[in-house]
Amino acid sequence: MPLVKRDVLDPARLNSHDTIAVLSLADRDLGFQFAKASRGYRLSSHGRESTAKRPLCRWSIAPKGAQAELVHCAPEGSLAHDGGVNVQGTLVKITDVTTTVLRQPDVLGIQDATIRHRETGRSALFVHIRTDQGVEGLGLGQPVARGIIEGSLKSVLIEQDPLCHEKLWDDMFWRVRGYGRKGVAFCGISAIDIALWDLKAKIFGVPLYRLLGPYTDRVPIYGSGGWTSFSEAELVREQMGYVERGIPRVKMKVAKDFGKSEREDVRRLAAVRKAVGDDVEIYVDANNGYYAKQAIGMARHLADYGVGWFEEPVLADDIAGLAAIARAIDIPVATGEHEYTKYGFKELIAQGGADIVQPDVGRVGGVTEWMKVAHMAHAFNLPVAPHAVQLVHLHLACCTPNLKVVEYLGVSEEGDRVWYTEFPEPKDGYWSPYPDRPGLGLELNPDAVRKYAV
Ligand SMILES: [Mg+2]
Repeated sequence: MPLVKRDVLDPARLNSHDTIAVLSLADRDLGFQFAKASRGYRLSSHGRESTAKRPLCRWSIAPKGAQAELVHCAPEGSLAHDGGVNVQGTLVKITDVTTTVLRQPDVLGIQDATIRHRETGRSALFVHIRTDQGVEGLGLGQPVARGIIEGSLKSVLIEQDPLCHEKLWDDMFWRVRGYGRKGVAFCGISAIDIALWDLKAKIFGVPLYRLLGPYTDRVPIYGSGGWTSFSEAELVREQMGYVERGIPRVKMKVAKDFGKSEREDVRRLAAVRKAVGDDVEIYVDANNGYYAKQAIGMARHLADYGVGWFEEPVLADDIAGLAAIARAIDIPVATGEHEYTKYGFKELIAQGGADIVQPDVGRVGGVTEWMKVAHMAHAFNLPVAPHAVQLVHLHLACCTPNLKVVEYLGVSEEGDRVWYTEFPEPKDGYWSPYPDRPGLGLELNPDAVRKYAV
């Protein structure tokens, strides 16, 4: 029974378990009109609050006493629309895996302690997983992984059931065993795994965080940047920008010039503290730039300015050094953005190298592995503060009881405003996913694709 916007639904024409295709869900009023017009039927709260413009939805009707309740919203073409998804079988099959790389050539890059060469250009990779049912998953990642996705991983996925993410993850892991248990191959696996979870949530017709199991739908964020390539004035302006947006937590870089400018690090921190005042939390990130003893010495200065965490004080692979620092200083050591898989995090955490665990969904192995690492941290009673990839971490963070705070990078926001049609905006230092858009709720902007695809 197809409906379009402002159609009036006659309940007399409906039977239990009927499916109604909503061909246009263009504004907030539709749910109310629909509910009112249908009298004996009512929309679930999901439908009533819906502001989704896309995708097209179908509502199926389930009996509820003498009345009926409209439940379920699933994208056109998904299995969920006509009465349920068979998770046992292989009703959905992956038919193709493709990538899009977008590149804005004229954006000046940023620097931190150990980015030695400042580059120009901003780019991003997107993975598209297509199925025989028309539903499509969108993943995101680093352009460097394109070759491995198309050359090595794609063939593992074709003809497979996208709901079997554990099986597919394991197949991809063993496909790259000889050359990629960390690094680029895992950036590729991560991007694909993100697309598989976006696809799975779309098949079930729910936002990703609803599929994973939310602990909350509102998470705290911190404003992140403070690049070493900023002058002191630029640094203060950027950090104050976050505070003025209502975000009472900021992060800045230290270990400028690969740890050779300690006095300048302290001066810059002092300038930021003076500008933001005492009520704003400041985190610092050395991006691997100090040695262990040096970091322990620096921590005394950082403590004078009330620093809330000391991120990647030394080389990410120096777990012994991280553990020694964590034992020696009072400021929590945060690390993990350069670690891969549960196996890597097992060593890092078990050896005491992290007080705050920072998995990156674009490196660690996607949503599948990120959630396992977050649970592992939980078992060790450690907080999680995800690194970058904020539009994906928003969903995962909502499902993490031991979440500390979500990183919100201004440079990522600038890119996201170009790549996507829209995304949810943070407010007063907190952030919520769209409650009514299946999957990640993201769509590539066709104008950006036309202009920047390479
Ligand atoms: Mg960092």
